[in-house]
Amino acid sequence: MRKISLYIHIPFCKKKCIYCDFVSFDDSDEDIEPYFSALFEEIRAYKTILNAEYIIDTIFIGGGTPNYVEVRYIEELMGVIFSTFDVDKDAEISMEANPCGHSSREDFERYRKCGVNRLSIGLQSASDDMLRQIGRQHTKAEFDEAFKNARSAGFDNINVDIIFGFYNQDVLEFENTVQYVIGTGCEHISCYSLKLEEETPLYDLYMDEGIDIESEDFEDRMMYHTSCGMLEANGYVQYELSNFAKKGYACRHNLNYWDIKEYIGLGLAAHSYKDKARFFNTSYMDEYLQGIETNGSAIEDIEQLDKEKQEEEFIIMALRKTEGVRFDEYKKRFGEKFLDKYKDETNYLIEAGLAALSKNSMYLTDEGKDFANIAMMEFISN
Ligand code: SF4
Repeated sequence: MRKISLYIHIPFCKKKCIYCDFVSFDDSDEDIEPYFSALFEEIRAYKTILNAEYIIDTIFIGGGTPNYVEVRYIEELMGVIFSTFDVDKDAEISMEANPCGHSSREDFERYRKCGVNRLSIGLQSASDDMLRQIGRQHTKAEFDEAFKNARSAGFDNINVDIIFGFYNQDVLEFENTVQYVIGTGCEHISCYSLKLEEETPLYDLYMDEGIDIESEDFEDRMMYHTSCGMLEANGYVQYELSNFAKKGYACRHNLNYWDIKEYIGLGLAAHSYKDKARFFNTSYMDEYLQGIETNGSAIEDIEQLDKEKQEEEFIIMALRKTEGVRFDEYKKRFGEKFLDKYKDETNYLIEAGLAALSKNSMYLTDEGKDFANIAMMEFISN
């Protein structure tokens, strides 16, 4: 049996955060019921496709805010998944949750009972002022309570999301956030640099205020390296550009993405990778509901990857990881020696101080992490 991961998208939120460009809605509660019906149908449509040769290794229920919808939807979702697919008995089953959603002890007990064994809770900042400014629908105290409820419901594998790089955020405020998260004792921390996306209220704010995005970079990098140092000093090992975990708690699901393993994404706008093809569902709710009803599928596009593209993706994703591009893995997949094929690119990055070599890998240095996109461009052919 081959292993495969499953991603399920739940596109509903209480209110949009001002920086968010994920496919999620804060004004579509009437779609929740039909959405889940369609989602269950889409899951069942994959039964014959997957069951012949695959076992589900990891599941990630993301969003949106999966705990915004009533708990019974997630219970039913897990029931449909378990009754449709072969799920490994040791599968990692993660769910994103926000403190503004269902987050009482009883709610978390129900999530655990139906199979969820890892939580990813969105905090973003430990400053109530900052939370308010970026449109989050919770306070630090509410996060604190949700976290404690999750713990007392038995969750022993919890990620906390934090974000940095807002124009009026100071380094001290961010350090306080990192310190606070470390203090929770969570097993995993995702620490994201703000990516300013067009067509978000935050983007409009930057434009209206004439904020120079480039000049924000210095502080952004300072916060990044500060957080890396604080997290490492407290037992959180960096295993990817934005991800840190205590020993044994790296997220298996996300590692599967970075290792270019196969996964199926179900639900609105969900992406998949299988049999060396990438495909994704429509981002429009009406099209999704209609597509599932008429064809059992809402796939918008498919791209079959040629060898060149597969290599590009493999290298770029590997560079995100602290261990970098593993030479043995590259040889196994592509039948060549990495350093024979990419000698010039590798030498260039090493001379620029952006990459270094170990016995079995090429990885980004601390400086290289600041210029990861530039380093990755070296391996993109067009
Ligand atoms: S909670 Fe997450 S998905 Fe929902 S609006 Fe905020 S950032 Fe976007």
